[in-house]
Amino acid sequence: MRQIITSFQLLSNVMQPGSSIFCKRAFLFILLISGLFSTSLIHAQNYQMNRSTMIEEQIAGRGVDNAPILEAMGKVERHLFVPPEYRHLSYADQALPIGNQQTISQPYVIALTLDILDIQKTHSVLEVGTGSGYLAAILGELAKDVITVEIIEELGNEARQLLKTLGYKNISVQTGDGFNGYKEKAPYDVIIVSAATDVVPEPLISQLKIGGKLILPLGPENKVQTLTLITKQKNGKLKYKAIDKVRFVPLTR
Ligand code: SAH
Repeated sequence: MRQIITSFQLLSNVMQPGSSIFCKRAFLFILLISGLFSTSLIHAQNYQMNRSTMIEEQIAGRGVDNAPILEAMGKVERHLFVPPEYRHLSYADQALPIGNQQTISQPYVIALTLDILDIQKTHSVLEVGTGSGYLAAILGELAKDVITVEIIEELGNEARQLLKTLGYKNISVQTGDGFNGYKEKAPYDVIIVSAATDVVPEPLISQLKIGGKLILPLGPENKVQTLTLITKQKNGKLKYKAIDKVRFVPLTR
């Protein structure tokens, strides 16, 4: 009985004039939460709008009209792969720093690369140079399996964590020197090298299927390179095709 009276008194206290401070605080708290919620909603909408504009102007507008590529690039949220200080530039027509002197590639260069490769849902893909994991995520949308190798442990760990959070079960991030490829899951239908080299890594050629395609920025470090497509023909010979002039960070050993 005494307990009931005490709780009644406590309850009545809340209704007293002194409780208005509590009410004000609760009101301000609700206001703050709803403010934060609507701000993040506005940000999400802006990102989505900027992504659609990126697809329209930078990708489709420059002649890449492959539907699965446009769909995958419209789905993967580039801003999640960009450090907070550059996030407002996530959908701009440029590469961006991702720390450790590395960069996330320009969206158009990624689209151009993918367009040439014609990746199928049955394909196993190897990427050398995970970086932020952005290209790996797009590959995860397009291919069956993706192995991506990163030489900088910190970047590899961050990308692995993010791709896991985003739910990609067909992407495996490996830490190591991608010059050696990744023998354990070879051969691959497609190999993409995301860093510049002036020699074609021999292990990558041997880990490529017959009929498979390897694309890499071939040329000197810290200068302009040639994005080069190498196809492994039935007789094992290699066919080279120059695609475009590009500038990538160097492949380190
Ligand atoms: N495709 C990435 C960008 C790659 S930047 C993205 O979408 O964000 C090039 C990356 O290649 C860098 O992270 C760099 O650390 C990595 N790299 C350089 N040399 C390497 C090597 N030998 N093996 C594996 N990764 C390498």
